[in-house]
Amino acid sequence: MERTILHCDLNNFFASVAVLDNPTIKNCPIAVCGSKEERHGIVLAKNELAKKFGVKTAEAIWEAKRKCPDLITVPPTYKRYREVSNAVKEIYLRYSDKVEPFGIDECWLDVTGSNLLFGSGEDIAERLRHDVKKEIGVTISVGVSFNKVFAKLGSDLRKPDAVTVISRENFKETVWPLPADAMLGVGKATLANLSSLGIFTIGDIAAAGSEVLEKRLGKMGKELYIYASGNDNSPVIAESSTPKSVGRTTTCKHDIHTADEAWPIILALSEEISETLRCHGLYCNTVQAHIRTFDLNVKEFQAPTLMPTQSSVAMAKKCMEILKDNFGFTTPLRSVGLRAINLTDGITPYQTDIFNDFSKSEEECKIEDKIFEIRKKYGSDSVIRGTTINNDF
Ligand SMILES: [Mg+2]
Repeated sequence: MERTILHCDLNNFFASVAVLDNPTIKNCPIAVCGSKEERHGIVLAKNELAKKFGVKTAEAIWEAKRKCPDLITVPPTYKRYREVSNAVKEIYLRYSDKVEPFGIDECWLDVTGSNLLFGSGEDIAERLRHDVKKEIGVTISVGVSFNKVFAKLGSDLRKPDAVTVISRENFKETVWPLPADAMLGVGKATLANLSSLGIFTIGDIAAAGSEVLEKRLGKMGKELYIYASGNDNSPVIAESSTPKSVGRTTTCKHDIHTADEAWPIILALSEEISETLRCHGLYCNTVQAHIRTFDLNVKEFQAPTLMPTQSSVAMAKKCMEILKDNFGFTTPLRSVGLRAINLTDGITPYQTDIFNDFSKSEEECKIEDKIFEIRKKYGSDSVIRGTTINNDF
């Protein structure tokens, strides 16, 4: 059966939330920036008006202001982004239970089963566009297609506040002339690789054939061929289905210089991960630490936990240990994160280690179980750790 997939993209999301919270700046060029004193001031996001002046993501505020002297700069408000993102997701869920988030501002929806109730894919896209604008006050662009790759491409094609349909009938004329990097999976490195083969458009990828691409680009080449020829059949995976990993990352207001500064942040992130693991009945077997240094280098390290765990303290401690061993806090950090990977269901037996005393970690886990129950009943701020109480990152 032919699928109907939508990809919804919140337009200029961070800047739109800034306008939502302060409508007086609606018609101004806006850039969401790290603050000058604390973050060396770079542009994290911008709106359409700022784009017209040539303001670019990741450039310095002074550079942006030189191009656009009236640029209004606002700080990021991550909690609000999550709130608005969740409210929009609630609207998507009215039309399908298969909603797969892709970052904070994008979602795929499989609405194949919703056609009888709500009309064609295009009809549903128009309803979503309308509902989100009316109820939340931000705009989305929606791509409608028969697979995820083309749906995503469609949402990029016309924005803001638009619907684009890419069908089996029109995809060759709509998609194939586009540059290769308009397609999911083609980043800078792949683009360079492709151009060295004389491949510049998505149509060129489809024409090159699977064998040539696989020979030159490996497994990914084969995948790109499948994407370009319209044969991507990857499913939309609803968020509620069991996650393969659970991670949280944050960009900090101040660069982090020491382990002591990192600890409360990592513990707070770990608490969120722990909650998600408990919701799904999953246990973490490996912790992955993620850092981005002040000069924007990204690094990841990982190590196994002593035993399968849901404990925020155990995961945070492991994360600190990994960072101390591999990184040593020699360079200031701009963002930190951790991810619980290699998840198991808690029923799977595991090998205990005679050299470690597990009774203490088991005790800690029981305390956290209780805290989790209380928070579920009385709200997430009903019990707060002393360590994280002054967190403001
Ligand atoms: Mg977006």
